[in-house]
Amino acid sequence: MGSSLLKWLGALVALWLGAMAQAQDFTAVARLDHAQSVIRERGAGVELRLALSQGVPWRVFTLAAPERLVLDFREVDWQGAGAALAVETDRVRGLRMGQIRPGWSRMVVDLAGPHVFEQAAMEVDAQSGTALLHVRLGAEDAARFSATAGVPEGPGWEGAAPSAVPAPPERDGTAPLRVMIDPGHGGIDPGAEVDGIAEKDLMLVLARELREALLRAGGFEVWLTREGDEFVSLEGRVAQAHRVGAEVFLSLHADALSDLRARGASIYTLADSASDEASAALAERHDRADILAGVDLRGTDDVVADVLMDLARQETQPRAEALAQTLIESFRAGGIPLLSRPMRHAGFSVLKAPDIPSVLIETGFLSNARDRRHLSDPAWRAELVAVLTGALRTWQRADRARAALLRQ
Ligand SMILES: [Zn+2]
Repeated sequence: MGSSLLKWLGALVALWLGAMAQAQDFTAVARLDHAQSVIRERGAGVELRLALSQGVPWRVFTLAAPERLVLDFREVDWQGAGAALAVETDRVRGLRMGQIRPGWSRMVVDLAGPHVFEQAAMEVDAQSGTALLHVRLGAEDAARFSATAGVPEGPGWEGAAPSAVPAPPERDGTAPLRVMIDPGHGGIDPGAEVDGIAEKDLMLVLARELREALLRAGGFEVWLTREGDEFVSLEGRVAQAHRVGAEVFLSLHADALSDLRARGASIYTLADSASDEASAALAERHDRADILAGVDLRGTDDVVADVLMDLARQETQPRAEALAQTLIESFRAGGIPLLSRPMRHAGFSVLKAPDIPSVLIETGFLSNARDRRHLSDPAWRAELVAVLTGALRTWQRADRARAALLRQ
């Protein structure tokens, strides 16, 4: 790590705290004033001037291969900014902006060459509260660029992050629980296929039945990650959950195992290392489906800052574990057959929303004759759906009671 990076990180901490002190309301969303914003040449480098309706926490860093400048904000409304923002230099090839996770906005500037980061500052007008972010990149220098590129894990962002992680929406005990149901696979990716039954079709049927049951029971708002036989990337499924502000994410599956005797339901939560070989293989197979379907998985890691994700997960993961536990207890009490050691974990990409308790439910295995018979039987599925509905209700009560305790 070059000394220049350390120096600007240091500068950034000071600037960031400065912005914190000056801005009035950090929970509000800043708007980009495109008319007052510009990206242009300056000497041998590039200059960005972004005018915002108010000061917000921010950070800047560069990434190599390909060379990019990344600006993170909490939070900027980019509406219409892409087309309207003036780019007056061919040293910038492209511009993307959008939400990277709830409460966090990002702008990615594609650079034509390794223009080295020089300085960044946000000035907040004491009178109007408007803010101007000024970023300067210097001349091209491949060696210096690669030495300083990377997502900073410096004390500025990391130290400030705990308060910056968006709190779960404040909801009283009577508000409906927002549930995202994810019917596994779809479209080009059929999932398991046995005896003319495709996992993707069966899971869509089950997801619709579960939605209907939850809506009939009342107290739930329900979304599906897909409504038809279409392909949705794993990342896209998680993004949809974020978009609707889901409070819980249930991914429904009925995969096939090479061991045809394996049968019964199991619940998976996210972990860096898998609980067993079969779980690892399942997670790997689900990720491979995304690659085969043409999703570019490179660079997904820099979509969200790891540090922020870890912080959110510390809060979310125990809630997901509690949900998995409740589901297993409910399955047991409701007579839904379980796999031996039904609570498992693995690195499923679809469970990676850092701030939404997420579980993957293997409702059974299509490779097993009994499970296949169960899952194809509407009466059996109705029992499963009733148990799932009850389990969600039980978990919601416990989860909100816990949240209320934490608030006191
Ligand atoms: Zn599956």
